[in-house]
Amino acid sequence: MKARDLAKELKNYLLHEEEGFFIAKKPLKKKKAVTVKTEPAAKKTAVKKVMDKATPKVKTVVKDKAAALAELAEQITKCTRCELGKTRIKAVPGEGNINTKLMFIGEGPGFDEDRQGRPFVGRAGQLLDKIIAAMGFKREEVFIANMVKCHPMKEPNNPEKHGNDRAPNQEEIALCRRYIEQQIALISPDFIVALGSVAGRSLIKDVPTFSAIRGKIYDLDLTYATPSKPIKILATFHPAALLRNPAWKKDAWADLKILLTAMGREPNTKNDVKQG
Ligand code: SF4
Repeated sequence: MKARDLAKELKNYLLHEEEGFFIAKKPLKKKKAVTVKTEPAAKKTAVKKVMDKATPKVKTVVKDKAAALAELAEQITKCTRCELGKTRIKAVPGEGNINTKLMFIGEGPGFDEDRQGRPFVGRAGQLLDKIIAAMGFKREEVFIANMVKCHPMKEPNNPEKHGNDRAPNQEEIALCRRYIEQQIALISPDFIVALGSVAGRSLIKDVPTFSAIRGKIYDLDLTYATPSKPIKILATFHPAALLRNPAWKKDAWADLKILLTAMGREPNTKNDVKQG
């Protein structure tokens, strides 16, 4: 599929709005469908059927990946699908190596990211850089993005206030998730690290506790896009959570070593994230 065809399909998607559900996921060993608890099953099924009819998955085999991703980033910078688009300073599509084997996905931009239009550039970003280095990569070798592309704020009318960040809500995630799914399908990494509860529970399973899925490898199953190959995903703590709770670094590093083993790589022990 050519980049302009993909862009056309994306625009068609945006004309068929649907939200309010999360995708069922399949763990590697135990397969079990999971539905959102906040909606009646019958309603969810009806929504899913309509969605499936109106918005078939995109087969993202593209000749010009860079052009398709650039087109997608342009759509993101102009997007006002959810309320976050009205108060952001800069949208943050994501950045990195589009041919990478490894993607990191967080929950959403914060104060610094909103101003720079780049993901993970504040204190949490500095820790993520250390995590990436400890895994044996350079930041520019991986791709970094978020579930939502605009800054969720507790007080949107007070954007200069520090400590104003909040997690995106389910409606915002549902409205924005086509973008991250298209990025995943276009980049088509071998592995994804979901950083934190929001990304983990949105992309792997909607379960009551993040601890139920943390540190386990799952097959990724997208709603709107079909990557050209299977992708594995593992969730661990968000770097911001590690800054608040340094004792969790040990557990995060144990999670990441599971992923590194699956990737057939050795951790960089000289730059152990536990020390970061
Ligand atoms: S968060 Fe996503 S859906 Fe909402 S305005 Fe930004 S790009 Fe659009």
